[in-house]
Amino acid sequence: MTANDLLAAVILNPHDIRRASLADAVADHLVELPNLDLRGGEVERDQWGLPWRVRCTMGAWCGEACEQCEGLGIYHRLMVMFDEPCLKCHGTGRIPGIAATVCGAWPVAEVEFSDVKPNKSYLGCWQLWNDSTTAGEFPENGDVDKLLFDLITEGKRATSFRFIDFATESAALAALSHAALTFGRRAAGLPDLQGAAKSEPSRWLKAIMP
Ligand SMILES: [Zn+2]
Repeated sequence: MTANDLLAAVILNPHDIRRASLADAVADHLVELPNLDLRGGEVERDQWGLPWRVRCTMGAWCGEACEQCEGLGIYHRLMVMFDEPCLKCHGTGRIPGIAATVCGAWPVAEVEFSDVKPNKSYLGCWQLWNDSTTAGEFPENGDVDKLLFDLITEGKRATSFRFIDFATESAALAALSHAALTFGRRAAGLPDLQGAAKSEPSRWLKAIMP
């Protein structure tokens, strides 16, 4: 197996036990992991020095509305619309995130958003909200981009599909990390990671939400 095959295998499955061998190959300059622009985010490395967790804003990861044209894709000024497409976003209205680039080049296994914090409900659950339905309804930071919200597979989804309940804050964050990886890996043409983030619902949550 060549060093590049090894890199591909570990990117395919970041939990591959051959991470240590890959780290050796990187140290011996047999294969190079590219430096990536994390848009102000940071990377945490594993015991062998390989990228393991990326911490950045949600917008940096999955993309966000273009600031230049406020998501319109065309320039506007003083209530006058111009037909020329925005140069910054090439008329798409959205600045793509780093998710696909990172997942395709680095064997990352976790993503942490610096600007998302699950809301604690008055019933004691930890909630992630679909940001396309809340319109800033909540002052806390549990709003999640709809693109990611739809990829969350764990937790107890409200019948309104507006939020998802978790027994603990760490379970909510693990589910969000998993969705972020699914988003990036699909965009990079990689298969989903096997084994969703595991969370054990509390006895209380089991009692009220069977
Ligand atoms: Zn734009």
